[in-house]
Amino acid sequence: MQHLANKSDVTYISVGNITRNEINSGSALGLQLKSYLEAIKEYPPELITQTLRTHILTTNTSIAVLDGYPKYGREAHSFEKLAREHRLKLGSVAIISITLDEAVKRAESRRICPHCQKTFSMHDSKSLSCPTCPNCLIKLTQREDDSPEVLSRRFHDFDDYMSQTLPILRNLVSDVVEIDGLQSQDKIADQLSTIFRFNSNKPG
Ligand SMILES: [Zn+2]
Repeated sequence: MQHLANKSDVTYISVGNITRNEINSGSALGLQLKSYLEAIKEYPPELITQTLRTHILTTNTSIAVLDGYPKYGREAHSFEKLAREHRLKLGSVAIISITLDEAVKRAESRRICPHCQKTFSMHDSKSLSCPTCPNCLIKLTQREDDSPEVLSRRFHDFDDYMSQTLPILRNLVSDVVEIDGLQSQDKIADQLSTIFRFNSNKPG
């Protein structure tokens, strides 16, 4: 998703990344977020929308795709307020669904660069023994939330998403599209490109 967006005029927003950046900036909002992180408590939905608001207002964002957000019903309620307050024009929700077996298989081979947050699949990598990020030249690590336990919990969350979050989003967006995640990556990329208009390729 990030890769597709980077090739277009669409801004890619990962809530995980922007909350981390806010914490690293040492701002008042970042300090508030940090207190939850250190207490191993979930961020209150209002703090996430505040972070999102700050990000949208301070970066030159005209078209954006939100990856994996809002996930929970309470997040969707908070996001709904933000969207109405700022009169955000919301397009489509795309849901990519896969089986738990496949999710576990993919997670096992997924590595992340601790510096630039780019993810890699070890199936594609030639340097299996000591994979490093080609941009930052530092060792890739496995994401903590890629463990089988966390994945099965996320599958449980998906049921909640369909019953609680999606009904709220349906009132805000023009379209909800379901994508079969077991298709080839290229086919998924094609479908996402059509939905999110990742097709205004930047020169170069
Ligand atoms: Zn990197």
